[in-house]
Amino acid sequence: DKRLKDKIAVVTGGASGIGKATAIRFAQHGAAVYILDLTPENLAETKQEIESIGGTATVIECDVSNPGLVEESINRIGGENGRINVIFANAGINGTMAPIETLEMDDWDQTIHTNLRSTFATVKYAIPYMKEDGGSMIITSSINGNRVFSNIGAAAYSTSKAGQTAFMKMAALELAQYAIRVNAVCPGSIDTNIGENTYKSEDLKEVQIPVEFPDGNHPLEQAPGKPEQVANLVLFLASDESFHVTGTEIFVDGAESLL
Ligand code: NAD
Repeated sequence: DKRLKDKIAVVTGGASGIGKATAIRFAQHGAAVYILDLTPENLAETKQEIESIGGTATVIECDVSNPGLVEESINRIGGENGRINVIFANAGINGTMAPIETLEMDDWDQTIHTNLRSTFATVKYAIPYMKEDGGSMIITSSINGNRVFSNIGAAAYSTSKAGQTAFMKMAALELAQYAIRVNAVCPGSIDTNIGENTYKSEDLKEVQIPVEFPDGNHPLEQAPGKPEQVANLVLFLASDESFHVTGTEIFVDGAESLL
């Protein structure tokens, strides 16, 4: 059975990793998927992949750290369809990993704007197109928004992820009146391309980690999770099967956060 039949679904950061796996799942379940991402080549490849399995995908080049561009893209999708049913605010970067002492303001802003301000913009501009019928919004936070582990140098990243989770709760409360549900998924380490554009400062070597954490351990499987394992959870949250679930953060980390 198709769990998102005839739904209009928007996925940010949908041309790679968790977003791409979710866009594919959404399409397999009957949604018309709109994918916002940066790179035309990745967007085209994702569209082709979805169409090769009989799905429907429209791709839009959009830098979500720019709220004006998010507004424009959402208005286009909402205008074309008269509604949006599902939002997956997922685009994100690790950004620059550096000690707070040397982390530059611009690097902080890049991470916060890409991960957190983009989430605010995506949710805000979608409301007019969702308030009539209700719907589901899912935000990709991280276990790093809840606990920071040994992730030294990730002050901006962890703050952006904690902010996304806090924002999700407020949005769930405010938007319940429209039957718009808002939840967050918090992945542990997942095998994607996110590490490729991470800039690690040399200064990190100087930072003393106070406690030795069992880094890289995965209790459930001795490997990082797969994007599809997150996508399955997002599909559940997007569908009406989860209708009583809102304002919740769900970990998908193979118990990594319990170490
Ligand atoms: P990924 O790099 O494979 O995919 C992220 C996508 O977001 C890319 O296609 C990228 O181009 C896009 N993106 C980045 N900045 C953008 C911008 N300004 N505008 C539009 N698109 C942009 O990484 P992923 O692991 O699939 O990451 C997806 C989300 O999952 C992120 O929010 C990330 O923080 C979160 N997350 C990932 C992990 C992990 O271990 N991979 C763990 C916890 C949380």
